[in-house]
Amino acid sequence: MSRYRLQPSPAQERVLLEHCGHARYVWNLAVEQHLHWKPGRGSAPGFAEQCRQLTEARAENAWLRAGSVVVQQQALKDFAQAMANFFGKTHQRPAWRRRGRGEGFRIVAVKAGDVRRLSRNVGEVRIPKVGWVRFRWSRAVPAGVKSYRVTRDAAGRWHVAFAVIPEPVPAPGTGEAVGVDRGVAVSAALSTGELLNVPGLRAGEKARLLRLLRRLARAELGSNRRGRVKAAIARVRAREADRRKDWVEKTSTDLARRFDVIAVEDLKISHMTRSARGTGEAPGRGVRQKAGLNRGILAAGWGRLVQRLEHKAPGRVHKINPRYTSQTCNACRHRAAESRESQSRFRCVACGHQAHADVNAAGNLRDTAAGHAVAARGGSPLGGPANREPQRDLLLVR
Ligand SMILES: [Zn+2]
Repeated sequence: MSRYRLQPSPAQERVLLEHCGHARYVWNLAVEQHLHWKPGRGSAPGFAEQCRQLTEARAENAWLRAGSVVVQQQALKDFAQAMANFFGKTHQRPAWRRRGRGEGFRIVAVKAGDVRRLSRNVGEVRIPKVGWVRFRWSRAVPAGVKSYRVTRDAAGRWHVAFAVIPEPVPAPGTGEAVGVDRGVAVSAALSTGELLNVPGLRAGEKARLLRLLRRLARAELGSNRRGRVKAAIARVRAREADRRKDWVEKTSTDLARRFDVIAVEDLKISHMTRSARGTGEAPGRGVRQKAGLNRGILAAGWGRLVQRLEHKAPGRVHKINPRYTSQTCNACRHRAAESRESQSRFRCVACGHQAHADVNAAGNLRDTAAGHAVAARGGSPLGGPANREPQRDLLLVR
């Protein structure tokens, strides 16, 4: 996803806001349908059925018909994806969308001529029912744009993000595998021992954000001052999100370039078992809330990282059942909950092997993926030293 600042004229902005309104309306209708659904009533309407209903609604309502059918249909598609994420336990249930909060819409079936460059710093994108809208050409627009999303942030700024499936990165051909574990203390631990962290806000920026949040709490509801403070907060948060996205792109390219096989935990499974991993002592209330928030942000970044890896290293990403990976010694394969001394320390109670707990887990992910690859070629299922005893649960590859 590469994002550009969209610069609509006031007249264009009115149509863009209408598109946002239609997308929000259709999305909220879908939310309502699913809220009213009760077990035993048959299934709530799926995407195809909702599209049929949308056609009917457009026939009956001139104002809806006046809008773009692509915008409205894509809102249904987004909703279907949100429900799939919800059932996959990676996201919360899709909620109502409110005016002015995270507004946007998506356009698909973009043709080659729909994005063009006007001058060094100015580009144009063709938006249905709006026409050509200028954007700041802040970096090269990747070739082969298939869809884009237009959003309006809380600060009232418009952006366009072009979705391109990145080109696969050639595998190094070394046969080397890497395990990538999603850590609690660090963002990602590699089986090579590298600990990676998603860059967040710098200390100065964090302090500024705190000051702004305090100011917001004191600002009168509906005042101009409140609006300004909210906009400033949105800008700081947007910077943080940009850094996270940047990190995901760099990290996924780097991993795809360095390793033939990349083993990651299967998110669908780990979501259910994650809590059993424990975090040591029970934290205080505020701490826990903050940790929960961070986890949510990290989870979002993690999902994006895995998605990007699958684009850049197609067929080379193995999703592994993470069960017991944090309790199993990567050196001798002995499994014991007590080996995990703390959130970050692993010390095997059988052989004394010591490692960062997430690196140890990443090693187990790597070995399971490597074992799986070897097994597929008819070799030893673990592909490791003969003194290792296969752990059945570690071999469950999904
Ligand atoms: Zn051991």
